[in-house]
Amino acid sequence: MTGRGTKYCEPQSKTIIISPMKKLKNAYPGTGLTLLILLCFSPCAMSDGLPDLGDISQTVLTPLQERQIGQQSMLQIRASKQFLDDAEISDYLNQLGYRLVENSAEPNLGFEFFALDDPNINAFAMPGGFIGVNSGLLQTVQSESELAAVLSHEIAHVTQHHLARIIAGQQNDGLTTMAAIALAILASRTNPQAAEAAIASMQAHAIQKQLDFTRTHEQEADRIGLDILQKSNFNIHAMPEFLNRLQLATRLLDGHAPTYLRTHPVTSDRVADIENRVRKLPYRLIPDSLDFQLARTKLIAARKTAADAVAYFSAALDAQKHGNPIAQRYGLVVSLLRNREIDRATLELAVLRKQLRTHPMSSNSPMIETLAGQVKRAANNDADTLAFYRAAVQNFPQHRALVYDYADLLLQGNQPEIAVALLTEQLARHPSDTRLYDLQASAYAMQGKRLEQHQAQAYSYAWQGNLYAALEQLELAKQAGGSFYQLSTIESDLRELRAMLEARGKP
Ligand SMILES: [Zn+2]
Repeated sequence: MTGRGTKYCEPQSKTIIISPMKKLKNAYPGTGLTLLILLCFSPCAMSDGLPDLGDISQTVLTPLQERQIGQQSMLQIRASKQFLDDAEISDYLNQLGYRLVENSAEPNLGFEFFALDDPNINAFAMPGGFIGVNSGLLQTVQSESELAAVLSHEIAHVTQHHLARIIAGQQNDGLTTMAAIALAILASRTNPQAAEAAIASMQAHAIQKQLDFTRTHEQEADRIGLDILQKSNFNIHAMPEFLNRLQLATRLLDGHAPTYLRTHPVTSDRVADIENRVRKLPYRLIPDSLDFQLARTKLIAARKTAADAVAYFSAALDAQKHGNPIAQRYGLVVSLLRNREIDRATLELAVLRKQLRTHPMSSNSPMIETLAGQVKRAANNDADTLAFYRAAVQNFPQHRALVYDYADLLLQGNQPEIAVALLTEQLARHPSDTRLYDLQASAYAMQGKRLEQHQAQAYSYAWQGNLYAALEQLELAKQAGGSFYQLSTIESDLRELRAMLEARGKP
């Protein structure tokens, strides 16, 4: 192993294990690109210094290797069109996911849950705790317990290191580098568009079958997943119910199995086994959280045209039969806003908020506040709107969608100072959020602070994996000039980036 690769991988690799949630406790990002750590996976994995799998053990991958493989796959996924870049959906998934992770065998492993805009019914786990859920699955589940059941099963695959064990056990020449493995995982877990690179290269198709879970893996993930589900106070009967429904759907689809069934083979034995386990346990009806209902409704609305969505939710509310009227009205307001029917959106929003006050489980919701702000902005956008956002962000400081909108409004109102303060505070919570850096760069530009502007832009590019663009921005920051301390931070960031690029190899 060459010195360089190792040298740059080391300090970075310690930090990539930090989860999005635990980043909260992490240092303030003013320390610069040391936070860039994450990018370790790209330069390191491609450098000569990368320990290939033969280096360590043929049967075990280290937690760091697992994490790096997962990070590699994530880089591809984030850059793909299918990555669902919606902070509300992603925050919801992580909130639910972490509630389950707490009851798993590895409560301290940095998991990351994300959604893909893909109608195929599928969910998948990658080594290192990256768990993807397709929008098709989110819309197919009939309850939050069903979604929790799927996630618990995936979490169990991760904590049991199933995929890592399969990989380590492979004697295949094509799977000797982490980059190759990451691509093969993508090809096997997602659909071809998300894995174009994988399909184009090497024998990904041949490898993908070898990465499928075995029956033993599935049984183990079911057993452990059920345990997680139960400890997390969800309805455990949801697991066999979901699998039965998938199997039924497969029959209706003429044997065209959802991707989920291919990567997690479901046999009658497997379902019978789960049914046996849960039969002895009492049936507990667990109500869905409002967040689940709203996140799901948002996805349903997004898949229709604005006019169709308005008609769909209006009809659902008129029928007053199925579903949750608060979620349906939320869907209606979202769709009216999209269809530019602002007056009607304002009226329906007022009804929605009245309904919410009488809701047994929640009197307020950050997703509804975000929507309310958007309706307000579309309707009049006066001084009152700023006051609304100030209060809303104070009530829900963790809700990124609300923060984005508030910062955008502040910039629109030419108030960059307040925006910078807000964004800097938020970046301490979410140091890898590129949208926050983009907004911060705009705010600094407005203040004429060119060094800070280019520096923020550099961090945004760097977290997106675009190291060359980041380097260019840092050079511009340096040219802009600043205090001794600022310039030395830029210098150290530059050194770090150059080293990463060198390790990765010139284009
Ligand atoms: Zn499985």
